[in-house]
Amino acid sequence: MTQIQYLKNPRADEIDDSPAEFLQQLGQASCIVLDGEDTSRNRAFVTLLHGNEPSGTKALFRWLKSGQKPAVTTICIVASVQAALEEPVFEYRVLPDMRDLNRCFRAPFDDGQGMLAKEILDLLQEYNPEAVVDMHNTSGSGPGFGVAIYADAKHKALVSLFTNRLVTNDLRLGALMEISEHLFPTVTIECGGRLDDDADELAWLGFQRFFTLTDIFTAENIEEDIEVLRNPVRLELADDCNLEYADVPGADHDLILKTDIECHNFGLVKKGTQLGWVGDKGLSIFSASNIESECVLDELLTIENKCLYTSQNLKLFMITNNPVIAKMDCLFYAVKDNGNDISEF
Ligand SMILES: [Zn+2]
Repeated sequence: MTQIQYLKNPRADEIDDSPAEFLQQLGQASCIVLDGEDTSRNRAFVTLLHGNEPSGTKALFRWLKSGQKPAVTTICIVASVQAALEEPVFEYRVLPDMRDLNRCFRAPFDDGQGMLAKEILDLLQEYNPEAVVDMHNTSGSGPGFGVAIYADAKHKALVSLFTNRLVTNDLRLGALMEISEHLFPTVTIECGGRLDDDADELAWLGFQRFFTLTDIFTAENIEEDIEVLRNPVRLELADDCNLEYADVPGADHDLILKTDIECHNFGLVKKGTQLGWVGDKGLSIFSASNIESECVLDELLTIENKCLYTSQNLKLFMITNNPVIAKMDCLFYAVKDNGNDISEF
């Protein structure tokens, strides 16, 4: 049974009046095929793998309403429509008890999410796009960035349509962008916070470049302009630990993070910057390991009199002040201040 419905060249007046109504209209995972000025080449735009990340859907809605024709034939895949439509709209990353769709792009494809991922992969292979952009938002507020498994000229050029930061990762988790390894150049674009107006703007500006440029791979000065952050480590929190956000230390908490913690997103965080306070359990509430699965906690954090500090100059990102996300996903990602792996000497 297929989960994805096809639409071809919908007219602007056939699209309902808001992104949420447009999703209602779709009602299920959808592939919208838009014929280009040049129909000999294809591109693919994927979004809403996570139902709570609206910037890509909003950009697509805006494009469809504009009635424009893309430079080349472009297929637009809107994935987790049902999760996004669950009230309140754009709140659910996945429906309850479902797997994260962006971890399902590798075998086995045996549950509902796996089968949807497989259908998306089959569709992409059918159209054989010259490039794939997969648009997301971060949970916390912050500037946008691209993610790819390679930092070569093609991936940098694609990312540069949207932002000048590229995060690369050697870990393979079953994310869509990993198809770069054997199929087509694919980048994830994290437009910025899911509630940030700036994220919608970044999405729209880049979206227009991706849809209208005849050549998306010839951006100039790519080598100098793109900052590459390699193999970030995730700082994770133990399940049984309680987390609070505050600007003063308090009893009864394993971890208190400062309320303005999100301001460190992508800035240089100097050695000895205080991030918050810990309780009696100290550093044991955290885990962080590098690509070799070695613990790198001491290279990130140090404690003095229950105050929590950075132990070297770092670049941090994906910091959130949402305790649910922080516990479910991670507190932040970190690289050295030069963009390299924490464990690089
Ligand atoms: Zn996402």
